[in-house]
Amino acid sequence: MDTIHITLPDGSVKDFARGTTAADIARSISPRLADAAFVAKAYSNNGPLANFGDPVDDGGYLIDLRRPLEQDLKLKILTDKDPDALFVFRHSAAHLLAAAVMELYPDVKLGIGPPVDNGFFYEFLREQPFTPEDLEKIERKMHELAAQDLPNERKYLPKREALEFYKKSNQIFKCELVEEKVTEPMVSFYTTGKFIDFCRGPHIPSTKRIQAFKLMNVAGAYWKGQEGNAQLQRIYAAAFFTKKELDAYLHRLEEAKRRDHRKLGPELDLFSIQEEAGPGLIFWHPKGGFIRNIIETWLRDELIKRGYDLVYTPHIMRFDLWKTSGHADFYRQSMFGLVEVEKADYQLKPMNCPGHILIYKSRLRSYRDLPVRLAELGTVYRYERSGVLHGLLRVRGFTQDDAHIFCMPSQIEGEVEACVDFAYAVMKNFAFDKFEVELSDWDEKHPENYAGKPDDWHRATAALANTMNRLAIPFRRIAGEAAFYGPKIDIKLIDAIGRSWQLTTVQFDFNLPARFGLEYVGDDGARHQPLMVHRALLGSVERFFGILIEHYAGAFPLWLAPVQAEICPVSEKVADYAQHVEETLKNHGIRVHLDNRNEKLPAKIRDAQLQKIPYMLVVGDREAAEGSVSVRERSGGDKGAATIDAFLTAAREEIASKGLATVTA
Ligand SMILES: [Zn+2]
Ligand SMILES: [Zn+2]
Repeated sequence: MDTIHITLPDGSVKDFARGTTAADIARSISPRLADAAFVAKAYSNNGPLANFGDPVDDGGYLIDLRRPLEQDLKLKILTDKDPDALFVFRHSAAHLLAAAVMELYPDVKLGIGPPVDNGFFYEFLREQPFTPEDLEKIERKMHELAAQDLPNERKYLPKREALEFYKKSNQIFKCELVEEKVTEPMVSFYTTGKFIDFCRGPHIPSTKRIQAFKLMNVAGAYWKGQEGNAQLQRIYAAAFFTKKELDAYLHRLEEAKRRDHRKLGPELDLFSIQEEAGPGLIFWHPKGGFIRNIIETWLRDELIKRGYDLVYTPHIMRFDLWKTSGHADFYRQSMFGLVEVEKADYQLKPMNCPGHILIYKSRLRSYRDLPVRLAELGTVYRYERSGVLHGLLRVRGFTQDDAHIFCMPSQIEGEVEACVDFAYAVMKNFAFDKFEVELSDWDEKHPENYAGKPDDWHRATAALANTMNRLAIPFRRIAGEAAFYGPKIDIKLIDAIGRSWQLTTVQFDFNLPARFGLEYVGDDGARHQPLMVHRALLGSVERFFGILIEHYAGAFPLWLAPVQAEICPVSEKVADYAQHVEETLKNHGIRVHLDNRNEKLPAKIRDAQLQKIPYMLVVGDREAAEGSVSVRERSGGDKGAATIDAFLTAAREEIASKGLATVTA
């Protein structure tokens, strides 16, 4: 009998008749697996597999379940547990979209339709733009076709016939693709009902299970991404295996939109970016400035407690300094242009390091002086193309909470540990409790690409890894991801809706101490080169503020809120009492604002809620007579009447707790 040997993931080898399909094999294992299967992955026993397309990351080849198998293979059946299956699923969903569009608008010209993060797109050439109503119609048609359980079948045509077919149907872009991509005599197509598409596949067996998708938007795109080419309309869609996953994704998108700091910034009067001043430059308005001051004051106090020295360095320094540091070579594209002063070139600083190094170098250091920890809320300027600027997150001028630590090798583990401890204190203080840690190491096989000796790298990486292990912090090690000048750890925090944000970096540097000839006199009387660590905890104040706004959705906890309570008098009659409440609370350090506009109470409350002010204190005749306030929360909760004193006590407690337990939006 003509048999092939199939190795299954558990290592067992089974014999099957030649021409058996992956679907047959799945069924022979269990009917449940056959039902759950989307696609299969084949691994070669020796050498690449011919006619299987390109392998994916783990070396396997994704194949259709109904493809007849002709040779010995290792085989894995993929279900919804496998990310590769999701990729194929989304690709099949893209074909379903094209099938629906072709039924409704038979004259469109097809571009390409690949899977993307969270979904897929397909692009079409059509004179009229697709409207939201069109998208609804297309979506309905997709569901209709999906319900027909149309098989996705592979067909082959000789290249000449394939070209004729597309020429006849006037599919100019498909013609171009077949001309360019096909090197073999036969061209692979997939059919989904009446729809046929030039495609290498693979696909899921049929349309039935494509149910959890949503057409999101239409975006213009040049054919092949080249300006000057025809402009196509890309229909983007979200697609998941289940409705539950789709809904969770859509909810996350809505939440992200609601929390967008670029929207909340102007709404809550926190900051602005002014075209008149230039893109990527941030104006901190009084309320944003207030929060910044709280952040910075907390940080400076901590720095001093933790043995850092605060320094200030110039914003503009001789260009020669940046030649010594090397930035003039490897960082030039990110730097602002030169400024000429008295025939000398000056550079706006893109980094604080050289400034701190000059302070270190300003006198001879002894081992007794080490470690030297120089900290600065240092404003830097970096050139970013206007296309990549993004609110507070990608800007051209920002203030890093920067520090540089100069120490002896024997001190390095303690310093790294102190940095991590400090980073944790920051996260805890601002109510973030989830995070991820990454250790970026060098590529050991290419030491020539890195500054520093192998010994330096081993010692530094060990210091980072030992610290994380000692603190029992799980981390991911990424080989080959380090900068050329040293290994680093990055801490990413996870915000209220599960997004991760790069925050803290602790970065070794074997390059700058050598370039600047840094030294200290050891206890042996000889001169040695100190180790240098760059570290930023918040990253930048701007970026951190953006993250805070989104994390809290603008509803800052009481200790951070620029206005903590809005006093809302019911009428003119209680104006005096309202003023008395205002003064009393102000004198006790509560940040209040008196809404003495001639507006009805509901309007005052609504406006205070829109401003996300934590408390509204309503005062009318009864409150004036009792010496009380009626307390409402921004979330709408009515806490009833309280004496001014009682409100003060409760507010103080909440401020002291930093609202860690009661984060509401
Ligand atoms: Zn395709
Ligand atoms: Zn630095």
